[in-house]
Amino acid sequence: MSLEEIRDRVAKAEAEAGRAPGAVTLIAVSKVQPLERVEAVLEAGHRIFGENKVQEAQGKWPAFMERFEGVELHLVGPLQSNKSRAAVELFDAIHSLDRIKLARRLADHAQERGACPEMFVQVNTGEEPQKAGVLPADADAFIAECRAMDLPLRGLMCIPPLDETPAPHFALLGKIAARNGLEGLSMGMSGDFEQAIALGATHVRVGSAIFGERDYG
Ligand SMILES: *Cc1c(COP(=O)(O)O)cnc(C)c1O
Repeated sequence: MSLEEIRDRVAKAEAEAGRAPGAVTLIAVSKVQPLERVEAVLEAGHRIFGENKVQEAQGKWPAFMERFEGVELHLVGPLQSNKSRAAVELFDAIHSLDRIKLARRLADHAQERGACPEMFVQVNTGEEPQKAGVLPADADAFIAECRAMDLPLRGLMCIPPLDETPAPHFALLGKIAARNGLEGLSMGMSGDFEQAIALGATHVRVGSAIFGERDYG
């Protein structure tokens, strides 16, 4: 477990970028990790976690939340419309808002519940056909539609293409956010979070660098 090391690297990247200490939220992405590794990070005092599947999070987090106070849970993976109610109930933030139909469902559930997770609009900055997210050219209109539904938009999220240098994607995300008056930038993972912080990330999503490699076997 190298939570301390990652916290130090985040703090150093903040300082080097002239950002305020604590400007960047470290989301520990715990998907697929053995429960004892997640528990160790909780024991070390960390409280902000990310999961990429609603069902997996439902199976794991209610019990941890009973034992550890103040857990904040972020959904970082794609969300199917039929899981939107469960997502509104469990998560404090959703980073994968990318369809009008999904936005409507989330807005309806939030209204029933009287509370809504913070929303990040996912932008497919690499315009990859297989990847989720709105296209950069459609982002402004999509953001406006979400605002018209009263969804609490915190910012934008992206996952750059695996085979490309991420910096131009982080810069593009920052540009779209700035022209839409959005302050949150969810970008940067284990391999590139320092670059993301240099380009304005407010939320980095770090999994394997904290917990170790995921074992999908
Ligand atoms: C798994 C995942 C991460 C964390 O990835 P690492 O490379 O392990 O840091 C971040 N963001 C999303 C959307 C993910 O699915």
